[in-house]
Amino acid sequence: MSGEIKDPIEDQQCSGIERNRAKDHSKIYSPYKVLKYSERIKELQEGKTTRPIKANIRLHGLCNADCSFCHCEMVDDAGQWGAGGGKKGLEFKTEPLLKFFEDFASLGGESVVLTGGEPTIHPDFEQIIDKINEMGLKWGMYTNALLIKRYYESLKTATWIRVSLDPIFFRNKQKLLPVIKSLSAHGVFVSTSIVVCNTANKSITAAQLPEVIKTLIENGIKILRISPDHYLKQIEKRELASQLKKIKKENTGINIILQDEKYEAKNLPIGKPCYYSEFQFRIDCSGMVFPCPSPVLGTGNGEFSYGNLYEKTFLEIWKTVKPKFIINKTCEMFCIHSQKVKLLDYLMDDSNDGHDEFI
Ligand code: SF4
Ligand code: SF4
Repeated sequence: MSGEIKDPIEDQQCSGIERNRAKDHSKIYSPYKVLKYSERIKELQEGKTTRPIKANIRLHGLCNADCSFCHCEMVDDAGQWGAGGGKKGLEFKTEPLLKFFEDFASLGGESVVLTGGEPTIHPDFEQIIDKINEMGLKWGMYTNALLIKRYYESLKTATWIRVSLDPIFFRNKQKLLPVIKSLSAHGVFVSTSIVVCNTANKSITAAQLPEVIKTLIENGIKILRISPDHYLKQIEKRELASQLKKIKKENTGINIILQDEKYEAKNLPIGKPCYYSEFQFRIDCSGMVFPCPSPVLGTGNGEFSYGNLYEKTFLEIWKTVKPKFIINKTCEMFCIHSQKVKLLDYLMDDSNDGHDEFI
């Protein structure tokens, strides 16, 4: 990913926030959205630890699908491991999580993003959604939508969902795509993603794309993110890019985005605080609270963890977020929010170079 601030429509490494009923979808992924929180920016400029806006929560470490390109371990269905138990600690304990929502809302938190594995296989999924709604928080979710019918009433309360389509296409597209369409008609913003592989073994190939896209358009899907599988050769990736250019021209009714698989973020202010990490954070189903959802920083052995929700409340943990998280070399390899990080760093910099007026 380039180190420059690019036009929002080019922002491939977005955090996934999607606003319902947006007139212009290119704005949904804008890195400039943080500028709307001028009060919180001011708090940071005054040296205070600000109040977080968004919580990214990994609700489950397992999945009920078995995509060939995914490292996730498979379970059969919801509830198999029992409420609060979890297999190998890979399921968020419900009670600490419900308490977290209260604490987060009391701090002025506004939104929750649920990820997995597959979030809907959590045995207390409905209870969790009820609590999020009770606290007045907006929520969005990454899901494979295999359980969309079972949890339709809960899902109707989401602001957005991003559907990983690969499992649906191999199991139940005739039944599930119309349900997704109806959710979208209800007002939930639906975007989709697929991974293009070079074998048709439980995965979608480049040759199948035209048919897949036609089906999506028929079902009212407006956004599709396409990621090349890690194992595609460079030449196959280049061919995919040029194939997509052609497909995009022929299908203007759907916004097709080719996802860059690289997270590389150049020119991050290493050694300085990451102010973006005070606007949002990540909680893993192990209970650990991390500064951000970027790979490695947000999981692993807990090296970068602020604390554990199974041991302390979120309010206790958030008080200890001092000194602010310092950007390190790992960030340069994995940051998916570099544009926002650099924007906030610029706003916090008070070393007046005498040129501020030359805008
Ligand atoms: S739906 Fe997502 S999490 Fe589940 S196996 Fe497929 S890629 Fe992995
Ligand atoms: S990877 Fe580092 S710089 Fe990027 S958002 Fe996370 S903590 Fe901040």
